[in-house]
Amino acid sequence: MSTVSEAGVVSAVNKELFIGGKWTAASGDATLDVTDPATGEVLCAVADASPSDGTAALDAAVAAQADWAEVAPRERGEILRRAYEKLMERQDELALLMTLEMGKPLAEAKGEIAYAAEFFRWFAEEAVRIDGGYAVAPNGAGRFLVTKQPVGPCLLITPWNFPMAMGTRKIGPAVAAGCTMVIKPAEQTPLSMLALAGILAESGLPDGVLNVVTTSDAGGVMEPMIRDGRARKLSFTGSTAVGKKLLEQCAGTVLRTSMELGGNAPFLVFEDADLDAAVDGAMQAKMRNIGEACTAANRFYVHSSVADAFSRKLTERMEGLAIGRGTEDGVVVGPLIDSAAIAKVSELVADAAQNGAKVLTGGATVDGPGNFYQPTVLTGVPAKARMSSEEIFGPVAPISTFETEQEALAAANDTEFGLVAYVYTQNIARAIRVSERLETGMVGLNQGVVSNAAVPFGGVKQSGLGREGGTVGIEEFLETKYIAIGGLS
Ligand code: ADP
Repeated sequence: MSTVSEAGVVSAVNKELFIGGKWTAASGDATLDVTDPATGEVLCAVADASPSDGTAALDAAVAAQADWAEVAPRERGEILRRAYEKLMERQDELALLMTLEMGKPLAEAKGEIAYAAEFFRWFAEEAVRIDGGYAVAPNGAGRFLVTKQPVGPCLLITPWNFPMAMGTRKIGPAVAAGCTMVIKPAEQTPLSMLALAGILAESGLPDGVLNVVTTSDAGGVMEPMIRDGRARKLSFTGSTAVGKKLLEQCAGTVLRTSMELGGNAPFLVFEDADLDAAVDGAMQAKMRNIGEACTAANRFYVHSSVADAFSRKLTERMEGLAIGRGTEDGVVVGPLIDSAAIAKVSELVADAAQNGAKVLTGGATVDGPGNFYQPTVLTGVPAKARMSSEEIFGPVAPISTFETEQEALAAANDTEFGLVAYVYTQNIARAIRVSERLETGMVGLNQGVVSNAAVPFGGVKQSGLGREGGTVGIEEFLETKYIAIGGLS
């Protein structure tokens, strides 16, 4: 059990901007409030950066780049390793801080701190494995050297749903590769990132390598930095709509981009599935993070012969979940992030019902303070319902049926998104066939969670560009340089 108090963890965080290794007030001392989504109460205020503060942060990142690129890979790795250890030592207090600003239950917040820390451990190990090449020219006359260099100063933008892990998944490879950076966390959840900046500084990260700007004016602060021309890379996790806008801005200076955008994950249950395992997987794929994940199962397609049994079992499990403030013992369903999220989920459920879906359980908000929505199961959700094509981002499981594998695949692929899909079947030939034909970057095969620091996370189609984590994650922050060697004879 954590020995720290709620007020204690909030007051321990430095609430200013972190620029060039110094904690700095925003210009005009502007601040923005951080709210507990479970109570609607203001937790504290943090600095609210203006565009000129953003430019100062970029100045610091640019100024630190040349020296940082010269730091030995082992030293870069050891800074990450120390930060990994500090994150794990402070897991309880950081989890409580995250629960307060984001709402997820404490057990999940603790899980996220461990997941987040794992990116630092992984990239500490990758920092010393940046490879190159040496080759004899085809005509035998010259030699070719191939080496990898840091991309340069990076701009990183992270969302509110995984306030720590989405940061470490970008900062880890950037630090390992030798890049400096400006990171902008989501306005709803700045505290986890500010705490992380403190930990990295304590771990020996040189001044200016990581700069943090918190702001209520994301577009106003980021666009000048993107258009400035000195940053060389943008890595973004967030909605497809904002991602498209950023890609347009990046075109102006031909910035390299990594984009982790929206999802619309199908969850396929075949007639030969282990049904209890499928229900366990469905609970994870749907309810992890209160359904507020781009990997969340958004559409359940279940073979008609097992659909009633699957729907009944899922409904029983959803009805047994304790709803409440994430700090309370036993709670597994916390609040949604804000009132806009509640409005969106309510609208999507009403639209599905109007289009003929049946509500097996839930289907309403919870009275009282905070942004709570009941765990919900819907059956008979038609393709024309909005939730078949839009991300729900809440605790709602829409179920439809299918008759043939072909029909299931066609429905699963009938979306502009392609992040992840889940497949439950005990038939090995079908498992491979379906996994290969799904138009997604990732597949959970008899498995409801795919996230891991050691794998290439990312999507195809409008779910994004590039991969984070795994052995390819660091490549996103490296440029390849080839040196032609002549004069050898
Ligand atoms: P969500 O709908 O989940 O909040 P967003 O894509 O709006 O997703 O937000 C993800 C991140 O992108 C947040 O840090 C947010 O502040 C930032 N963001 C939103 N709009 C812009 C923008 N126009 N330019 C740069 N960043 C933005």
